[in-house]
Amino acid sequence: MRLQEKIYCNTCRTKTNHLTIGDNNTLYRHAVQRKRTNENQFKEMEDIYHITKCDGCDSVKFVQEFHYKKNDEWKSSYHTYPHSAERLFEIQNISFKNLPNNLFILVAEVHAAYWEKLYTLCSIGLRMIVEAICNDKSIEGNRLIDKINNLKEHGIITYVQANILHQIRLMGNKTAHETIVHKEDLLLEGINVINSVLFTIYGLEKTKMYFDD
Ligand SMILES: [Zn+2]
Repeated sequence: MRLQEKIYCNTCRTKTNHLTIGDNNTLYRHAVQRKRTNENQFKEMEDIYHITKCDGCDSVKFVQEFHYKKNDEWKSSYHTYPHSAERLFEIQNISFKNLPNNLFILVAEVHAAYWEKLYTLCSIGLRMIVEAICNDKSIEGNRLIDKINNLKEHGIITYVQANILHQIRLMGNKTAHETIVHKEDLLLEGINVINSVLFTIYGLEKTKMYFDD
């Protein structure tokens, strides 16, 4: 049996057809539920579980299919395990191997927050990364605004990077103090800028072409 819709394959890095494997005559499902909607109507829905194989690369994944009735028509949405990494591939790759351990963990958690659409935590996490960089480099200053300026004064980051880190600081402040959730595209941009800053600080000196005279 083939799933009704294409789902994302982490290996093929695109949406592909998936075939169910195992005993195709048995559907593993929750009993149909009836849930009251906002319009005071009943919505029929069920969960169906599949073990599937990608039609393109044969990789296997577990799929939870949410099957629901809308306007008298059955529709499906899917959750997969392993999780779809589609959103993770939006983040520009950098090498994390030179990061101090605490920064490594923090960066990974911020990426995971973005991946899981936990945008409040993502925004605060980005600000925490800026603070962690300053602490790791023993940058002086009582407030983060001063520390970012001093990062620039010490020649560790450029004027433009400092400018953007200030924006990330302000975004984190707004989220922490006013519970403002920033838009996904802005957070993605913040993550990619932070990644480039991390590479500038922790990656460039490890490249073969760098020499310290
Ligand atoms: Zn595939």
